[in-house]
Amino acid sequence: MKSKLRVFKFGGASVHDAEGVRRVGEIVKDNCDTPLVIVVSAMGKMTAALEDVTSSYVTGSDRLQTQFAEVKEFHWKIASDLFEAGHGVFGKINDLFVEIDWVLEEPPEDTFEYLYDQIVSVGELISTHIVSAWLSDIGVSNTWLDVRDVLKTDNAHREARIDWNWTEGLISGRVPPMLRDNHAVVTQGFIGCTSENFTSTLGKEGSDYSAAVFANVLDAAEVVIWKDVEGVFSGDPKMFDHVSKLDRLSYREAIEMTYYGAKVIHPKTIKPLQNKSIPLFVRSFTHLNAQGTWIGTNLDSILPPIIVLAEDQALIHISTKDFSFVGEEHLSKLFGYFATHRIKINLMRNTAISFSVCCRRSDRKIEGLRKDIENDFNVVVDFDLQLLTVRHSNEVTLDQLLKGKTVVFEERFKDTVQCVLKSSPTPTMKN
Ligand code: ASP
Ligand code: MG
Repeated sequence: MKSKLRVFKFGGASVHDAEGVRRVGEIVKDNCDTPLVIVVSAMGKMTAALEDVTSSYVTGSDRLQTQFAEVKEFHWKIASDLFEAGHGVFGKINDLFVEIDWVLEEPPEDTFEYLYDQIVSVGELISTHIVSAWLSDIGVSNTWLDVRDVLKTDNAHREARIDWNWTEGLISGRVPPMLRDNHAVVTQGFIGCTSENFTSTLGKEGSDYSAAVFANVLDAAEVVIWKDVEGVFSGDPKMFDHVSKLDRLSYREAIEMTYYGAKVIHPKTIKPLQNKSIPLFVRSFTHLNAQGTWIGTNLDSILPPIIVLAEDQALIHISTKDFSFVGEEHLSKLFGYFATHRIKINLMRNTAISFSVCCRRSDRKIEGLRKDIENDFNVVVDFDLQLLTVRHSNEVTLDQLLKGKTVVFEERFKDTVQCVLKSSPTPTMKN
């Protein structure tokens, strides 16, 4: 028997100003008929701003202080729009800025990934303090939960993997008692904590995934991701003509779309929900009457062509130096190296002595792989590529999408077509 608890996730766009926070308050107030776990991302573009702070700190750029001042200013402005001077939330925000100051005072001796997690995570810590304080002020009883107390990860900074057993025990032990006394628990998306008690992060846009983790462990009735779009579309409306909002989607369709780069939901979100048959709604934060997209089990509707364009791809060509067959002798070893360097394979193809992989460009990971294999293999890498995936494809759509494009290679399987394309100088795919 499922509890009636629901998990709401508000992304950065929903809380990019004081008006957004007030709207969160209204939405939560309208939904107080069930207990809520509210997962919030950093406000507006603050994750990117804190990433810039981290880069400037590590490279010794003189822009560091200005960039950090802008982050502070952005948050102070929102907080002062919402709260009277002297409100307790100001002290909490200040304490978090002081934590960044402490990091910045030391020379950047740790790895970039570790420092990134310590600095960037502050965005979520601040946004949740602001949302939690606002909800309290409008009469929604809630507890602010430091997610690092319950969401435990390995120590692969910037792309940490969740320790499920540990996390499950902590969430199921701590959260239900908090919800007995309060309408809501407000907590951070995207961040976690290693076994050595250091802050980790789950990967860009990882707050959706955090929401799914809470929903899975707590057997939530549903997850709602509130976004600045009306739902999941069959392609990015900013890039493609003739796309439409999808009313219903199966978990399978959603996981395939997001894996290949549809940005509307983080790809890791689907599995924890599918495993417990928890439906996911993607709903508009501004158009509260719009129907949104419902993602769940066993839906076999007829879908239009679904178009996903992933930018910033690389193609790694690996060939044996001694002309030994790649498929016969080397593949398992090569896959091992891809796993070690955490390179996610988007598309692959082999010939007698070569193996080519399309993956998201990450110079650090690709160089790591090259170093490990270059004694035995020739390695050539092409950049400036895009990966176009079209599910439920038809010839008319494909012809339009590929007009004027240079296709480097193409794979077709049933009605799914994937093409690696040379990036266009103007990244518009409008026809
Ligand atoms: N704030 C983080 C990011 O922008 C996490 C998220 O938004 O989901 O990547
Ligand atoms: Mg975000």
